[in-house]
Amino acid sequence: MSVEENLQQVNQVIQSACEKVGRKKEEVTIVAVTKYVGNDKTKEVLEAGIKHIGENRVEGALEKWEAFQGQANFHFIGTLQSRKVKQVIDKYDYFHSLDRPSLAKEFQKRCPEGKKIRCFVQVNVSGEASKFGLAPEETIPFIESLKDYPAIEVIGLMTMAPFEEDPEKTRPVFRGLRELRDEVQSQRFPHAPCTELSMGMSNDYHIAVEEGATIVRLGSVLMNE
Ligand SMILES: *Cc1c(COP(=O)(O)O)cnc(C)c1O
Repeated sequence: MSVEENLQQVNQVIQSACEKVGRKKEEVTIVAVTKYVGNDKTKEVLEAGIKHIGENRVEGALEKWEAFQGQANFHFIGTLQSRKVKQVIDKYDYFHSLDRPSLAKEFQKRCPEGKKIRCFVQVNVSGEASKFGLAPEETIPFIESLKDYPAIEVIGLMTMAPFEEDPEKTRPVFRGLRELRDEVQSQRFPHAPCTELSMGMSNDYHIAVEEGATIVRLGSVLMNE
């Protein structure tokens, strides 16, 4: 199927998940994860009306930026090595995987004059060893410590749920992230409005939306032929 047809189905899924819990569909933004595909397919994504694209590696991130700068909002969604920050910091609009002080330090050092780096703090809600991110109990102290880096604005939290055959099993992970987000918000840190929840992938985004996702990161469900 074309990206456009896939997107129609995805929109329906998001719509019904929203209806189920009394949310508005407009509260949910789709980031199309283009890491699996080349520029042709990415062009199709943009032509289908998606305005946000996500990449998880620096190489692919730069390639997509070269091809589509000015035509999309760019999200860096993968783990980022500190030494590679300078390659993407002035090109990408959002960073989803801030998870350690050394990365925050590098963002601050490399931030173009007058710019704010819009970040999500990545949390390993499930505790699965193979996942990156802070433990939930480390999250608020970490965010508080980011006040020392004026270039950084914490706009939300991000998590990756473990893959489950039955996506319903991911619900506690998404709910946990939402509750943590609410806790961060209640701290009223000026540098951390933390309004956004980046959670949900192709397998489980309907559950994530029911639990409050404001950004879903979708690859295969959109790109599948
Ligand atoms: C690849 C990737 C996605 C999208 O995965 P799909 O299951 O194809 O939707 C989302 N988030 C991150 C961080 C990824 O690396």
